[in-house]
Amino acid sequence: MYDKYCKTCGRALSEFYRTYMLGCPDCYENFYTEIVKTLKKSQGKTCHVGKMPKLSGVDRELYTEYERLLKERENATLGGRFSRIKQLSEDIEELAQELKRRGIL
Ligand SMILES: [Zn+2]
Repeated sequence: MYDKYCKTCGRALSEFYRTYMLGCPDCYENFYTEIVKTLKKSQGKTCHVGKMPKLSGVDRELYTEYERLLKERENATLGGRFSRIKQLSEDIEELAQELKRRGIL
């Protein structure tokens, strides 16, 4: 598979795909094209997921929050806000677990 490495910290592009995390501010510059492409793809996916059957109460709140965090992570990634991306990824992971437990994801 095609991979690419940050010249500064050595992080692989495939690592970013897996974790959504960047190793240093230069990663953002080195991977910029790929990051933007990935986000465009994931935005399409988010739209698709948005057509989910109706949820109510807590389920709905959790799912809305999940989508909001995904969106915010995209914005943080595009803006290169690294510490925020890391925090959001952790929150998203946690929320995804909960949604899976409830059979929503
Ligand atoms: Zn780097």
